[in-house]
Amino acid sequence: MNATLLHRLRTELDERRRGPGLRSDLVVSGAQGPTVGVSGETLVNLASNDYLGLAGDSEILDAVQRALREMGLGLTAGRVLCGTREIHGQLEAGIAELVGAEDALLYSSCFDANLGVFDALLGPDDVVLSDGLNHASLIDGIRLASARRRVFAHANLDELERHLAESADARHRLIVTDGVFSMDGDIAALSQLCALAQRYDAVLMVDDSHATGVLGATGAGTAEHFGLEGSVDVLTGTLGKALGAGAGGFVAGDRAIVETLRQVSRPYIFTNAMAPPLAVGALAAVRIARGRPELRERLAANTAWLRMALGDLGYEVLPGDHPIIPVMLRGGSLARDVAAALRHEGVLVFALSHPVVPAGEERIRVQVSASHTADQLELAATAFGRARAVLAGS
Ligand SMILES: *Cc1c(COP(=O)(O)O)cnc(C)c1O
Repeated sequence: MNATLLHRLRTELDERRRGPGLRSDLVVSGAQGPTVGVSGETLVNLASNDYLGLAGDSEILDAVQRALREMGLGLTAGRVLCGTREIHGQLEAGIAELVGAEDALLYSSCFDANLGVFDALLGPDDVVLSDGLNHASLIDGIRLASARRRVFAHANLDELERHLAESADARHRLIVTDGVFSMDGDIAALSQLCALAQRYDAVLMVDDSHATGVLGATGAGTAEHFGLEGSVDVLTGTLGKALGAGAGGFVAGDRAIVETLRQVSRPYIFTNAMAPPLAVGALAAVRIARGRPELRERLAANTAWLRMALGDLGYEVLPGDHPIIPVMLRGGSLARDVAAALRHEGVLVFALSHPVVPAGEERIRVQVSASHTADQLELAATAFGRARAVLAGS
């Protein structure tokens, strides 16, 4: 064991412990759903991305169980060796249909998908223009590529246009944005981004991890939400959030894009194939997400109800209509204290503070699901009402 490394790590951990404190994962029990077990208690779960309530869907779970018996669990091989089954192609076709693209390619996660896109599609003569609040996996994916990088301030279209104009010498300019930003729940200004992409002959890439299955009448995502179907060149997304499908990610787009990724994208090639039972579950989820618009209607109704209730209680709620509801509790440990009080009242939420959000922008992120019952939402609102005592004491 290398004592020099361990000494440095222990010193840094001690500093972190004394400073911002160490991150430690909450251990949760029971199936993921509208409620969840924590330390033997059942809490209303306002902290997961299970927007459509599919994580506990019995139709999906039955399909996964049957597939597990028929096909076993893992494949112990990559897709390019003996790891491809029919279900992978069926799922790729199902995803392409859901998001309205010509074709799609599966990855182990959307994190992997985002790591695999830029290096595969771009070279040193190209420029990536990236929103300042883009997801960590996009930032890392851009780092892995040889293309030049320009970051514009979050949602600042003037700055983006300046960068586009300044990179006129590039072979390709690729604009990349989250469809929905997970900290504020705000939706990218897609029609303006499309207009800029057209004006400058730029490629438009959207990470729709918080939008696939959630936004748009058929759950196709951000583009459908704005009536801009077909406007996104490269779409990435996750199977692990609204689709509740265990894990997995994808890239969707024109056949030439997908085929190129299949040939050269390293996180696609150099890793094990998605376990077939997971793919079976994901395909069931994709079909349900597309075929049951009433889930999105219930989600919208639940979201509107809780937004209204929190506003009526006097909380500062960032405007929007995505099921991510940021409840601003600015300064010091207020957000953490309110989150602790809520847990005491039977509600699971997490406080977000620096460096995840800027200092002074501390908040609790509430995430609503179609599976929350009226009683559970009432309980949550009551808990937020009681937690106001924390505000009064601060
Ligand atoms: C969650 C998330 C990811 C990662 O998705 P996984 O499939 O869990 O790896 C990527 N991008 C965004 C915007 C996300 O919110």
